[in-house]
Amino acid sequence: MSHFSLPAEPRRFQMYIGGRFTDGASDQLTTRHSPGHGAAVAQWPSGVGEDAEAAIAAAREAFDSGPWPGMSAGERAVVLFKVADRIERRAEELGLIECLETGKPITQAIGEIRGAVDVWRFAAGAARVMKGEAYNNLGERVLAIVLREPIGVVGVITPWNFPFFILAERLPFILAAGCTAIVKPSEATSGSTLKLCELMHEAGVPPGVVNVVTGKGSVVGQRLLDSDRVDMVSVTGSTTTGRKAIEASAANVKKLGLELGGKNPHIVFADADLDDAADGVAFGMAFNAGQCCVGGSRLVVERSIAEAFTEKLAQKMRRIRVGDPLDVQTQVGALFDEAHMHKVLGYVQEGVRMGARIVCGGARTEDRAGYFVQPTLMANVRPGTPLLREEIFGPVLAVVPFDTYEEAIAIANDSEFGLSASIWTKDITKALRATREVEAGRVWVNTTLDNGPETPLGGMKQSGLGREAGLSGIEEYTEVKTAHINLQPRTHWIA
Ligand code: NDP
Repeated sequence: MSHFSLPAEPRRFQMYIGGRFTDGASDQLTTRHSPGHGAAVAQWPSGVGEDAEAAIAAAREAFDSGPWPGMSAGERAVVLFKVADRIERRAEELGLIECLETGKPITQAIGEIRGAVDVWRFAAGAARVMKGEAYNNLGERVLAIVLREPIGVVGVITPWNFPFFILAERLPFILAAGCTAIVKPSEATSGSTLKLCELMHEAGVPPGVVNVVTGKGSVVGQRLLDSDRVDMVSVTGSTTTGRKAIEASAANVKKLGLELGGKNPHIVFADADLDDAADGVAFGMAFNAGQCCVGGSRLVVERSIAEAFTEKLAQKMRRIRVGDPLDVQTQVGALFDEAHMHKVLGYVQEGVRMGARIVCGGARTEDRAGYFVQPTLMANVRPGTPLLREEIFGPVLAVVPFDTYEEAIAIANDSEFGLSASIWTKDITKALRATREVEAGRVWVNTTLDNGPETPLGGMKQSGLGREAGLSGIEEYTEVKTAHINLQPRTHWIA
């Protein structure tokens, strides 16, 4: 791996609309400062409603009259594989962009880019296995067929925590289905998405098939939600933004895919391998500085081991290497921005005011500038404390002891969210029973945060609507059409 450093000047990007790189209608630029260093690292246009409209028109034309939806899945797959190859060749460059804009460690950022290559390749291959159904069992008169058709123009609104990987879990599936897209990345972390446009352009994605408009969610994103010419919007972000999408769709009844917040439990039973569990819980809470929608933020632990396990976990957490995102040894980088860091620390302080005890962490790291927070473990947390109910999106874990299996499941499910859960036990029956009974779109047993493009992901309850990845990830972006075909002379209704 090469040596990584801050750029001498901010990297300048443009939007991508109708196959052309452009600054769009406004003459304003957004500048991103690296949250780990404070240096200006990237700039892109502050897109406005007019740019969103231009992108919608380009995507509409590419869908209604362009070659993409009519190409065979095999032909589309060839293009998607070419995009994947180009991403792979530029993994370090893309990883550096992502590291500087998000504050995540460089090794993790590059790993996410390589993971995204795998997802693009899966979606490319999966395009060719998408199929309909035939019903030959409706009697000799009728044959029915069920067709899947691309849903049309899809808006994709992505957040700042995993800009490139979250896009990879959606965009290649959208393209594999034969749809066209307008992407609105987070206004703070748009660089890797804009760099991807160059790679798609080189790979031969036709003009208008993918368009990227930067700018504020309340301006550009809202325009995608409000437009009658966009058939579906996929939103990944806060539950507040998800609600805005639902409100907008009430007016135009467009389909929504929503991946929203989580308050995910780690359930640790006394019969677990406690060393493995402590390591997994520490990883699951601190990965990406806790800014991970499926990261664990509640530790639901059997009372008989709660004290010893909490101490074992704290020892692990104190050894997590929090530091410069550009250092290849760093395990946890900076939080997204200053306001977010204060919000995270505010939850810790409020918890303390409500009687919670800080077992480890609880403050900024002292030895460097930037928005770094120590991995924090909180015990004696009262039920109802925001620490236990709200998505903090930082490296903060709250402990809740339980006495019985039933109580563990009840605590785990006592949340408006249902995104993920991790279960730690050596008892296979207990593990399977808990897998069934826990309310979450993704469950891990004796591990956490594993994933792969083959398996669908998404949330229950207020964590979202729909599923991404796997074959469901392509089906999500299709409409189902049923046709009944008469094979016999008609028996007339009117004689
Ligand atoms: P948001 O939900 O505001 O941002 C997610 C995306 O939605 C961004 O691209 C944003 O644009 C866009 N957006 C915002 N408002 C609208 C709107 N009215 N119409 C259309 N798009 C919109 O999340 P935040 O960045 O504000 O983070 C706040 C909290 O949300 C976090 O602390 C965390 O709890 C949660 N979150 C959850 C994520 C998850 O993966 N589940 C991811 C990110 C955040 P822009 O920001 O550019 O204005």
